Amino acid sequence: MIQTIGIIGAGQMGNGIAHVCALAGYDILLYDSSGDQRDRAMATIHGNLKRQVARRKIDEDEMNAALARIRDVDSLDAFANVDLAVEAATEDEQVKRQIFTELCPVLSETALIATNSSSISITRLAAATDRPEKFMGMHFMNPVPAMELVELIRGIATEQTTFDAIREIVVKLNKTPANAEDFPAFIVNRILLPMINEAIYTLYEGVGSVEAIDTSMRLGAHHPMGPLQLADFIGLDTCLSIMQVLYEGLADSKYRPCPLLVKYVEAGWLGRKTGRGFYDYSGDTPTPTR
Ligand code: NAD
Repeated sequence: MIQTIGIIGAGQMGNGIAHVCALAGYDILLYDSSGDQRDRAMATIHGNLKRQVARRKIDEDEMNAALARIRDVDSLDAFANVDLAVEAATEDEQVKRQIFTELCPVLSETALIATNSSSISITRLAAATDRPEKFMGMHFMNPVPAMELVELIRGIATEQTTFDAIREIVVKLNKTPANAEDFPAFIVNRILLPMINEAIYTLYEGVGSVEAIDTSMRLGAHHPMGPLQLADFIGLDTCLSIMQVLYEGLADSKYRPCPLLVKYVEAGWLGRKTGRGFYDYSGDTPTPTR
């Protein structure tokens, strides 16, 4: 039975996962290597829960109960009694491997590990742990409280009992699971990211401005967000990592990351989370940066 969930990484995904799991009655430990990020995450969760109360999606008692179930911790040592660890740190294989090296000796023998990775091989990440049979992909969508889907990805060694336990959590969160095989970027991002990358090429080649590209896809294809707006929302570092995993993993030049995306990431313009990407977020309304 899973009751306590430890989450590693308190960025936009980690705080969302903590939020929905706490509302569903799980006890949460939330860890990030950055103290500032932990503080920001707790404030964000509070703000997002308040918004749900204002919209009458939950009541005040549910909000307070959820907040009381989340504890932010400053070390992985606090994870000794978790039933499940969900890794939601930066999309970088080395970072994730290092986390598993530190995490595994702390965990109880029976604890499961799930990764929220958007693209990296589950089998390879599992092999960096001491329990590949208790490891799998649990890929939430952004923003976690609003999105209904969770992709479930087994590694080659994942046991059925592990899969069943994680699937049960997804159902308890009122979300819909979709099974994906362990191929680069799974289903959603295998389809979505090449579209976003193509939008960035469209900008790079001067086919359209930021505004023209996003307006075209919103009004011409009825996408709720334009692709460049969506790229900023996902985080340009995450977009680039996913394209690199597709490019290297499938060895097909059609996945080549757009050089403009590479430049933006090199500049530290990572989208909404850093205040600048294809749009500048410093004012009241986002303004295109080119
Ligand atoms: P983010 O940049 O908002 O957050 C990443 C967090 O990881 C940061 O707070 C950082 O301080 C922390 N971190 C880095 N190294 C760490 C370490 N060694 N120990 C503990 N914490 C560490 O990124 P995000 O958008 O929340 O993405 C996190 C994961 O979720 C990635 O694997 C990403 O691919 C995946 N994901 C992202 C989205 C999206 O739309 N952004 C959607 C689904 C899945």
